[in-house]
Amino acid sequence: ATPTSIMAGSGKSAELGVLFKGGEYLEGTKDVSTIVLDKTGTITEGTPSLTDVHVEDMNEKEFLSLLAAAEKPSEHPLAEAIVDGIKQKGIDVSKADTFETIPGKGVRATVGEQEIIVGTEKLLSEENIPLDSSSGHKTRWEGEGKTAMLVAIDRVYSGVVAVADTVKETSAAAVERLHKAGLEVMMMTGDNQKTAEAIAAEVGIDNVLAEVLPEEKGKEIEKLQAEDKKVAMVGDGINDAPALATADIGMAIGTGTDVAIESADVTLMRGDLNSVADAVLMSRKTMRNIR
Ligand code: ADP
Ligand code: MG
Repeated sequence: ATPTSIMAGSGKSAELGVLFKGGEYLEGTKDVSTIVLDKTGTITEGTPSLTDVHVEDMNEKEFLSLLAAAEKPSEHPLAEAIVDGIKQKGIDVSKADTFETIPGKGVRATVGEQEIIVGTEKLLSEENIPLDSSSGHKTRWEGEGKTAMLVAIDRVYSGVVAVADTVKETSAAAVERLHKAGLEVMMMTGDNQKTAEAIAAEVGIDNVLAEVLPEEKGKEIEKLQAEDKKVAMVGDGINDAPALATADIGMAIGTGTDVAIESADVTLMRGDLNSVADAVLMSRKTMRNIR
């Protein structure tokens, strides 16, 4: 490998918005066999919004104001979507008195004497909250690719809300380019299986790793590597940092969090998955010219 061609390849990649942190990553990217894509903010825009609310036997306004208070302290994009959506309904949002994040699952908060738990079905089950009537809306909304979150107030299941995130316009075509380049493409997300599969189908991905807890994302990459795959991980969030660091090549979306960018080997300035295909093709081309 001559330094000159590496430099030329790096320059051309940079023109396409693909920044390799060093020549070794431009060289290494050609050997990648498997691309693992984070869902939220990578395949999708990452700016979800509240779309649906179903309340059980309770005043809807009271339900929404408790839910908003519980999510207000959370920095999760899902929480922001819930709080904004409730504000837009003209409901004043106060802040919970106590608050706790349960990573990859949801939140627990108290407002005065009342306790609110919001999150996955698994979280509410673990809390031994009976969910007999919860499944109808949840299943339907998840089938539409939305993230449904269950709400328990004072340990009684009280309703479900859904948040939707749009798939980036370029994602499906980019996935097709990756497949044409002979690469295996997978999605990895903390979101539930049904939602993940609906989004995956929309962009043409058939390998889905769903309900992966934040601390397990790195381990999932190691498992793929143990199967002799050369893995490139593409992500944008703090949650993705360990997986980006573990992957053979970590690629961070340039508009993502600083932690993701620091943990990655490549920064994709365009925030568009076409850049992943550009990176691989540019690496192959550069290394071909060298030999
Ligand atoms: P991702 O991989 O999309 O970043 P996370 O691991 O952060 O997902 O979260 C996984 C799941 O946990 C979410 O799909 C949601 O159901 C639940 N969850 C996470 N944070 C919250 C929150 N603040 N409120 C309600 N549910 C949440
Ligand atoms: Mg993300």
